[in-house]
Amino acid sequence: MQQWSRQQKAAGRRIAFVPTMGFLHRGHLSLLEEGRKNGDLLVLSIFVNPAQFGVGEDYEDYPRDLKADGALAEKAGVDVIFAPSAGQMYPRGYATWVDVEGITELLCGASRPGHFRGVTTVVSKLFNIVLPDIAFFGNKDFQQLAVIRRMALDQNMPLEIVGLPIVRETDGLALSSRNSYLSAEQRIQALTLSQSLAAARQLVSEGMGDSAQILGAVRALIEVNPGPRIDYLQICHQFSLQNQPQVDADSVLLLAVYLGKTRLIDNCFLLPEAVRCEG
Ligand code: AMP
Repeated sequence: MQQWSRQQKAAGRRIAFVPTMGFLHRGHLSLLEEGRKNGDLLVLSIFVNPAQFGVGEDYEDYPRDLKADGALAEKAGVDVIFAPSAGQMYPRGYATWVDVEGITELLCGASRPGHFRGVTTVVSKLFNIVLPDIAFFGNKDFQQLAVIRRMALDQNMPLEIVGLPIVRETDGLALSSRNSYLSAEQRIQALTLSQSLAAARQLVSEGMGDSAQILGAVRALIEVNPGPRIDYLQICHQFSLQNQPQVDADSVLLLAVYLGKTRLIDNCFLLPEAVRCEG
């Protein structure tokens, strides 16, 4: 892979890159579409990264369908799919980890210790292998994008990082490979996430600016249903991810909710309303 990339770059071609764990959906395809427009060549990686799953998490169960992914990638104009094995990425003796401090300890990092260390380690390895000029990530994993931006900046990585809007089902549910775990009943309950974001935006548009008040109202709304269990619900600054007592144009509402064993995440800017939310 690296040799191919070196040759292409030597010939003056610009490489766009979309890293994923596969089981592609329209969210991934939106990244590929943008990648296609922004590079001479488009590389897709598919790797279910064991290092970012905690003990007891869904590494084994994570959905995989390389054949279907291959067909979708071809349609999307992907030039190369890089799909290494876990043994190729982490051979015997592997001992080097990339760790971004601070913002990795909040939100998903608090619930999933070690998760972001796995993400930053694999993404920096993928950057070193694929040698992209530009890489595309979804706002769906908002904290992941913030962490990767931090890593790229701190480590002087010679590429551009682009974040793209969340792609949703028509009823509002953010697309996720993990949606395939949901039962019919949980699929209905999963609307809690996007509905909570909409409710918070509504409150803000009506003039409510106190984060505690907004979060209290949204929490009450979620907790009337017996199904969903809140992991976190916070209003944070888009870059530092620190809690914000008062809403402003940098405020993002981030939430993680359990439906049975399935943990779903979603987020949205609170101002100025839907325009920022949809990018
Ligand atoms: P994953 O395969 O879940 O690791 O995701 C690979 C990339 O696709 C990440 O940058 C995600 O943020 C992005 N992504 C996942 N779901 C969506 C979505 N619904 N809309 C936009 N991007 C997404």
